[in-house]
Amino acid sequence: MASSGRNSSITHKNLLQSDVLHQYILERSVYPREHEQLKGLRELTMKHARGLMSVPPEEGQLLSMLLKLMNAKKTIEIGVFTGYSLLTTALALPKDGKITAIDIEKSNFEIGLPFIQRAGVENKINFIESAALPVLDKMIQEVKEDDLFDFAFVDADKSNYMEYHERLLKLIRVGGAIAYDNTLWGGSVAVPVDPSHAERFIEGRNLTVKFNDFLAADPRIEISQVCIADGLTICRRII
Ligand code: SAH
Ligand code: CA
Repeated sequence: MASSGRNSSITHKNLLQSDVLHQYILERSVYPREHEQLKGLRELTMKHARGLMSVPPEEGQLLSMLLKLMNAKKTIEIGVFTGYSLLTTALALPKDGKITAIDIEKSNFEIGLPFIQRAGVENKINFIESAALPVLDKMIQEVKEDDLFDFAFVDADKSNYMEYHERLLKLIRVGGAIAYDNTLWGGSVAVPVDPSHAERFIEGRNLTVKFNDFLAADPRIEISQVCIADGLTICRRII
């Protein structure tokens, strides 16, 4: 294996430019501590035609750390796919923790469900098959001011990130956090549009640039743009 080239064993899109360093992080700190059901789910998901959509394990480890540091109990997940980030979250929450998990399509969640069941955390998950926006609107009607959510992870349709943000700020408590995935869009946000890219990629890139500008100027939150995986923006609600 060349020490500087892209390592073919790394199957995730990842912004870290050094594959050897990425591999080092995975092998040293991530894989040895990955829950066996997460490992099983990750390996099965990699065989899925859209397997690259799942959150990579080093990002899962960061989310888990964040949830534990926050003492999160009640969370929202938008964009479940086969459930890697969902199972990570369920394992990080306490026994009485609750996750409202929303995805427009249930079939991929069903692939991950046996792993969730074997990990013994199915009871923490309320999966809702629906587009996320109407579910969030209903949750806003029903939520009690003194029982808001601690955390939300958003990893679904990028065209709605702004809409999700407005709603999540009503659902997440002050001091709680919202984490948005793919906010560096393969690194394309920092350079001019490359017309050789697919139209859908360029569309996602442009939406992400707009969304990043919006978050950077939003006085209701503090932000940290983390260069992990495809970019993760952590927002802490301050007002
Ligand atoms: N976090 C997941 C990956 C999510 S991939 C993991 O770690 O594996 C994006 C998901 O968003 C897909 O499963 C897709 O079905 C879902 N999605 C797309 N549009 C949506 C919408 N409008 N509302 C809810 N989910 C949506
Ligand atoms: Ca993602």
